[in-house]
Amino acid sequence: MATKSSINIPITLVTADWVHQHKLTLAILRADLIDAALSGNKYFKLLPNIQLAREQQHHTLLSFGGPWSNHIHALAAAGQRYGLRTIGVVRGEQGGPLTACLQDAVAWGMQLHFVSRRDYERRHDSAWHTELIAQFGRHYLIPEGGANRAGIVGCQDLLPRDHDYTHIVLACGTGATMAGVVSASHVPVTGIQVLKGAGYLQHQVAALLQQHGLQARCDWQVLDDWHGGGYARFSPQLLEFMQRFETDTGVPLDPVYSAKMLQAVTALTASDFFPRGARVLAIHGGGLQGRRSLA
Ligand SMILES: *Cc1c(COP(=O)(O)O)cnc(C)c1O
Repeated sequence: MATKSSINIPITLVTADWVHQHKLTLAILRADLIDAALSGNKYFKLLPNIQLAREQQHHTLLSFGGPWSNHIHALAAAGQRYGLRTIGVVRGEQGGPLTACLQDAVAWGMQLHFVSRRDYERRHDSAWHTELIAQFGRHYLIPEGGANRAGIVGCQDLLPRDHDYTHIVLACGTGATMAGVVSASHVPVTGIQVLKGAGYLQHQVAALLQQHGLQARCDWQVLDDWHGGGYARFSPQLLEFMQRFETDTGVPLDPVYSAKMLQAVTALTASDFFPRGARVLAIHGGGLQGRRSLA
């Protein structure tokens, strides 16, 4: 198996006028490009988990996600690639046809198990995990979004070695990527929360660090007012921004995470959030499969 640290992630420099006007350097870390199927930050979270699962003689991986989950999509791809059985516990009763995301997962051999939204609330509940073992047999359980210690530590490797950026920006869903990056970065990190809830991820990232015995090596904060109406809510302005950004830079964005993060970066730049001369590295977390949800 390729080790995560052997990966050199490409970087795209954004040369738009709005960047130069504010005397910034803006670079995008293109984790979306490392692999078409096992994409973005999910690669960094899943590979160390697969390693652990194998060490513990597991042949089955089980995890949780919504019908458009980048995590479920990447997990199914990883299972196929590394010869492991995968089970996806999916939020919401199966109504109509499968989403394109879940169709891929099934094509890659994942077994889907749909549960009501109410049952899905129990995804962190160990009593339910015991029931899942009774139902599906012995398996290696990965929490939603890959947000366990191995996943968090794996995300430390997203950061380029020996860089001279002055600020890092990334999108936060579970906060696992943020926790990994702040435990390795020597420059300030700003997280953009893509779901509603004042202070939610500021608290969550601190909790993840503490729970896993990790420490932030830099200043960090999560901004919670750029979710644009909530998780996976897409305003016409967001979709317009995505299109314009892609035309201007050639960088495709996903609507749930990277589009909201870069929309925030654009607005923060306009309001002089970053000092003149700052060299900003924005982490593109991949997830481009989710663009199909807009069709
Ligand atoms: C999952 C995901 C994130 C969020 O990562 P967390 O570690 O859950 O905060 C960000 N961007 C993309 C594209 C993702 O798929």
